[in-house]
Amino acid sequence: MGEPRGRECRYYPCHFEGQDCRFCFCPFYPCGDTRTGGRWIISSRGRRVWSCKNCHWIHRPGVAERLEEELRKGRRSREEMQELRRRLMKSASGILMVLGTSSSAGKSFIAMALCRIFSDMGYRVAPFKAQNTSLNSYVTPDGGEIARAQALQAFAARVEPEVDMNPLLLKPCGERRSQLVVLGKPRGVIDAAEYYRSFTLSEGLRVVREAVERLKEGYEVVVMEGAGSPAEINLMHADIANLRAAEVADAPAVLVADI
Ligand code: SF4
Repeated sequence: MGEPRGRECRYYPCHFEGQDCRFCFCPFYPCGDTRTGGRWIISSRGRRVWSCKNCHWIHRPGVAERLEEELRKGRRSREEMQELRRRLMKSASGILMVLGTSSSAGKSFIAMALCRIFSDMGYRVAPFKAQNTSLNSYVTPDGGEIARAQALQAFAARVEPEVDMNPLLLKPCGERRSQLVVLGKPRGVIDAAEYYRSFTLSEGLRVVREAVERLKEGYEVVVMEGAGSPAEINLMHADIANLRAAEVADAPAVLVADI
């Protein structure tokens, strides 16, 4: 604070054109949250230090302004500061849902492209698909299992895949039966009727809501993808992969059609 801002600053250019420089040093340092783009590195002196090189969030116009307002209210403990960081990230995050007119309409591809485009624009982006039905899975660094499509979208976004990006995975294993994976961990085999009757609108929706909320706290943009079509009338009453997911995440939606 107090330094001349913009092109007059002796450190210009720092990260990106138009950044808000009022916090030259991040008041949350070291946050220890790798979803921000920060990470632990070994310094030239052999010390473990937190690097903020890939986190630009603190310099986004609007974020720094709100943070300054909050800090004027008084001192906070370290835990309170981290809570404030999560709250500010969540309220400043952008979110978009990509729905499709059918399976194979191109949702995954469009969502992946959006992940890369937002990443190229300098944002920290997370893909999200509430529920994926697929046998092709990927093991996250912490040993959880998610659909391979969400792992690919994470790579497109240049971030590490994590279980919150696909909290519910159904791996078909027989006539109308699937192995259910919840937040990366196998839960057992479930029948389709049972899944829609007693899981989706209770525990399933809670798991989806909490996963997307955590992503909003850690990323600047969340690109959501629906499953199949949002208008499958035999499933609509208990579908948590499409419009209900957009509703709990408060996300506007675009519709992809293959014509
Ligand atoms: S990674 Fe970002 S939020 Fe975390 S301490 Fe560094 S600048 Fe602050």
